[in-house]
Amino acid sequence: MTNQKEITIAVASLFSQGVAKPLAAPGGIITISRNTFTKKVEAGNNAWIASMRDSSPTRVKSSRNHPSETEEKNSWIVNHPSALNMFEQIVSGSKGKQIVMFLDYDGTLSPIVEDPDRAFMTSEMREAVRDVARYFPTAIVTGRCRDKVYSFVRLAGLYYAGSHGMDIKGPSKSSRYRKGHQGVLFQPASEFLPMIDEVSKVLEERTKSIPGAKVENNKFCVSVHFRCVEEKMWATLVEQVRSILSDYPKLKLTQGRKVLEIRPTIKWDKGKALEFLLESLGYANSADVLPVYIGDDRTDEDAFKALRNRGQGLGILVSKVPKETNASYSLQEPSEASI
Ligand SMILES: [Mg+2]
Repeated sequence: MTNQKEITIAVASLFSQGVAKPLAAPGGIITISRNTFTKKVEAGNNAWIASMRDSSPTRVKSSRNHPSETEEKNSWIVNHPSALNMFEQIVSGSKGKQIVMFLDYDGTLSPIVEDPDRAFMTSEMREAVRDVARYFPTAIVTGRCRDKVYSFVRLAGLYYAGSHGMDIKGPSKSSRYRKGHQGVLFQPASEFLPMIDEVSKVLEERTKSIPGAKVENNKFCVSVHFRCVEEKMWATLVEQVRSILSDYPKLKLTQGRKVLEIRPTIKWDKGKALEFLLESLGYANSADVLPVYIGDDRTDEDAFKALRNRGQGLGILVSKVPKETNASYSLQEPSEASI
C-alpha cells in the first residue's frame, strides 16, 4: 500500500506552489454517490436536459480581460501546460515509487472548442507531455477514437487508450518502461464494431435536422456533440437519440461535457483501462507505483474511483468550478481556487 501521508506531503509541497488545490483536507477522502446520474437516466428526457445544462454551460459572458474567450478556453491546465512538468517534483517525495501518468485529452490537454475536429493541443502542451513521458510511463485516456487522438497528440512512445479505454494500444516496439515488453493491443468491445458503425450512421441521418449537432464515430463508441446546438433544440436531440437507442438494448447513453456518448453496455470504462494499463506495465498489485490521473469530465470519475479503490495514486480534476468528484485534487482557475 502507498503511504498516503508521504504522498500527501510530497503533493502538498507541489501544490503549495499554486499548481493545484486539494479538494479535501490533506489525506482526506471525499466520497460521492454516483447514483445521481443513473437516476437521471431513468427519469426521462427532462432530466437529461437539466443534466446537459448543468454540465455544459454555454458561452460565458464576455469579460473585460478576456473578451473573446469561452469558459472552456480558460481551463487552467490548458493555459499552463508547464504544470505537467511540475510532477517531476513528486518523485523526490514518492520514495522511489514508479509514477505512471494518465491524461485525458479534451478539456485537459486541449481546450473544448466549437468544432471537435479542431480540438488541437498547443505545441507548448505537446512539449509538456513529451517531457512527462520522458520520465514516466504515460497514457492518453480518451473517449475519442484512438487514431483521432493520436493525430492530435502525435507523440510516439505513449500508451493510447481510445473509445473510453475500449481501444488500448501501447508503444509498438519493446518499451523502455518494461523489459521484454512486446507492446499492447487490447479491444474488449470488438464484437460491437458493426453495431457501433450502424448506430453511428442512423444517428447521423436522424440528427441532420438539428442545426449544430455533430455525430462522431469513435470506433467503439459514438459521440453526439451538442456544443453548437441551441439550447431550445436540446430536448429534440435527446428525444431523437434516446428513441434510436431504444432499438439497441446493448448500447447505453451517458453524458460528458457538451456531448452525449453512446457506448456498449460492457463493464469497461476509463477506470478499467487504468487498471489494465497498470497491469500490463507490471504494477497490478504493486505497492511501488504512484498512478496520477488528470481529467475533467464525468467519464474520468471512473478512473478517479479506481484510484480510490486501489488506495493509491492521485486523481486530479481539471475544473473551473467546484464539482462532485472522486478526485482528490483539482486544477482550476487560481482566482476561484477557494474550496
Ligand atoms: Mg475530457
